[in-house]
Amino acid sequence: MGLVMLNPTFPVDLRNRPLHSLRMSITDRCNLRCEYCMPGENYTWLPSKDILSFEEILRLTGLFADIGVTRLRLTGGEPLLRKNAEKLVAMICAAGRFEEVAMTTNALGLAKLAQSLKDSGLSRLTISLDSLREERVKAISGRDSLGQVLAGLDAVAAAGFTGTKLDTVAMRGVNDDEFCDMIAFGADRDIEVRFIEYMDVPGAQEWTKEKVISRADMLDLFEEGFGVRPVSYGVQGSAPAARFQLPPGAVWKGRDLAGQVFGIIASTTEPFCGSCDRSRVTADGMWFKCLYAELGLNLLTELRAGVSDDHMRALLLGDWKKRDDNGAEQRLQQEERAAFKVEGNNPHLEMHTRGG
Ligand code: SAM
Ligand code: SF4
Repeated sequence: MGLVMLNPTFPVDLRNRPLHSLRMSITDRCNLRCEYCMPGENYTWLPSKDILSFEEILRLTGLFADIGVTRLRLTGGEPLLRKNAEKLVAMICAAGRFEEVAMTTNALGLAKLAQSLKDSGLSRLTISLDSLREERVKAISGRDSLGQVLAGLDAVAAAGFTGTKLDTVAMRGVNDDEFCDMIAFGADRDIEVRFIEYMDVPGAQEWTKEKVISRADMLDLFEEGFGVRPVSYGVQGSAPAARFQLPPGAVWKGRDLAGQVFGIIASTTEPFCGSCDRSRVTADGMWFKCLYAELGLNLLTELRAGVSDDHMRALLLGDWKKRDDNGAEQRLQQEERAAFKVEGNNPHLEMHTRGG
């Protein structure tokens, strides 16, 4: 592995990992109920009074930039449900603290908001979609939403966004007969599709290890479908997705798809904890340094106690330096692996609260 040059004032954790990427959830609310993300019933929503204001988010993201974060991703819940989300994007982009300000969204709000997000300075979008079939989308997400997602994708292209990605959770027996179609769909729209291994995060109460399709199995499926095996493309580094390209001879339903690039995020069977440079803040300011961490640091209390920026930076630096998490690797080592059980109602443990 190449030597990573670090600014000496930026911290590394106990496993020598820097903090470069922050996922900031701006709401825990969602207009979908994806079966792998939200528990079926009994949600405990975060109290409105605890949701960080735009000014608090701006301050907090700036403090994270001070200690080394260069890439910011806004997420949720569904980030576009936050009223005036595009104004928040404009405030963050105007501050100019990040190399990239991206957003992960289910796309339902994009037909309306893509242009204003672009005008606000958003760098790029990742859109979540697990199927191209109406009935399936409805069964997976609890809502008949495919038409709206497609309209959202049209609006994204019309607004001039480039580098758009489409994330698909790969689930055996649910959508594994559509993967080649998804890649062809990406080719039509100049979008890179990424297949995420189904993760046993809290909220994924239907998860079983049999439903996980490993990266190796996905590559077999693609070889069968396209008639040739995808080849590695580029270097993965600290990016979650390993990228692949379809070689000459790749044909699907009579179409030549040679050259098309796609990604696989093997978060379940080949976790990338060793190079994980990201952390997450919930909409109420709880900082989690691992997707599987059960304990977070309450930044809301600190912010609202009126502490100085120096105090906040010292707190963030000190906490990152103590980070030793490798949650996905630990889950992998568990022999009798089953869905992650959440005791009682703890919204901070749910995927829709901590934002994928
Ligand atoms: N609502 C937005 C969306 O769906 O894009 C942002 C939040 S969502 C929690 C972020 C990402 O997490 C989505 O791409 C979703 O597919 C992914 N995700 C949620 N639960 C997952 C699971 N059990 N396994 C793999 N990916 C999951
Ligand atoms: Fe689906 Fe995203 Fe909502 Fe979770 S937060 S239910 S993945 S749309």
